[in-house]
Amino acid sequence: MSDTQAPAPQDQAIARPAREHVPTLAFQTTVLRSQKLSESFRRLTVGGTDLNDFGTNSHPLDMRIKLLLPSASGFVANDAISSLRPDALTSPADQQGWYQRWLAIDPSERGYMRTYTVRAFREAGHPANQGTEPELDIDFVLHGEVVDGLLRGGPATEYGDRAQAGDQLLLLGPNKALCDASYGGIEFRPGEATRIVLAGDETAVPAICSILESLPEHLSGHALIEVPEASDILEVSTNSEVSVQWLPRCGAEHGSLLREAVSLVVPIPGNGQDAAAEEPEDINVDENILWETGQAQSAPFYAWIAGEAGFVKELRRYLVRDAGIDRKQVAFMGYWRHGKQEN
Ligand SMILES: Cc1cc2nc3c(=O)[nH]c(=O)nc-3n(C[C@H](O)[C@H](O)[C@H](O)COP(=O)(O)OP(=O)(O)OC[C@H]3O[C@@H](n4cnc5c(N)ncnc54)[C@H](O)[C@@H]3O)c2cc1C
Repeated sequence: MSDTQAPAPQDQAIARPAREHVPTLAFQTTVLRSQKLSESFRRLTVGGTDLNDFGTNSHPLDMRIKLLLPSASGFVANDAISSLRPDALTSPADQQGWYQRWLAIDPSERGYMRTYTVRAFREAGHPANQGTEPELDIDFVLHGEVVDGLLRGGPATEYGDRAQAGDQLLLLGPNKALCDASYGGIEFRPGEATRIVLAGDETAVPAICSILESLPEHLSGHALIEVPEASDILEVSTNSEVSVQWLPRCGAEHGSLLREAVSLVVPIPGNGQDAAAEEPEDINVDENILWETGQAQSAPFYAWIAGEAGFVKELRRYLVRDAGIDRKQVAFMGYWRHGKQEN
């Protein structure tokens, strides 16, 4: 599991299948289905035998994965990534610095890496998986502009929009043999909280919907979800007492509906004088990633906030400074930034 011991120095150079010692593997998948969910969302279902090695042996919650997308020249495979395939023979020493080696490759050859959420993962034999191999759903927000009938957005958006059954998709994710529920790519950690708030924009919809499906009956609270249009309200189920409120933006400023909705469900205590008034240190979201995830285990309240970094930063200030919530009880995650490519 995740606390596997580091290999002894003499074993560092011995090549073995990656699945035996590499915690994050590269999974070659094939697009099985592409489904329009709404005006702004398209779901790709991918599958393949590589996914037999995928997962954390637990509910994925808000598990993130990395998609490796081809550049205009269509090239994506390279040694740094190929050595992460489950069957690849590689040594622990070979693996050191693989990401830096990948980054050093000319972008026109290496393609793009983008972060997405596992909306659902179904092993072979799962009642909803009709195939013989594991399959995984990824929900893409289609952002950008339509030019001459074609959506022009970032590489991931364009891939999500155009991919068809049979297309290949390489992704990075947890190695089932070495990862468990403590996996670092899962951030939803409510501990013993009995009341939660989930708040996010459209990019957080896959994570919030997946989390809602996992929640036990005794949990209460609010899921607040801002989406571009009313037609983007999706079906979601939960056994918990958490109420779900969709907030169609319909042209309003990004994040403005969430700011208001969060302030209603987490009000400023009393006349505002009682709040702890801790001013969180400023983060320049145009230069740095806003990513703060809580550690509190026994607090009765927990909040999870994700989406465009500008409004996540505002909500951070509101919750920590104005409402006096201990930041250890909140995960703040800037999933993307207006005007900035992921990398
Ligand atoms: C942990 C995590 C999980 C995520 N899960 C998902 C997911 O499941 N589904 C999903 O759709 N996204 C998800 N995202 C967000 C996604 O990674 C970004 O939106 C990413 O920038 C999209 O890549 P791209 O190639 O389309 O655009 P990029 O090349 O990165 O950006 C190109 C331009 O588009 C703008 N842009 C990027 N995203 C958006 C957007 N949503 N709306 C408007 N403009 C945008 C950028 O500011 C930039 O100007 C997640 C991000 C993180 C960190």
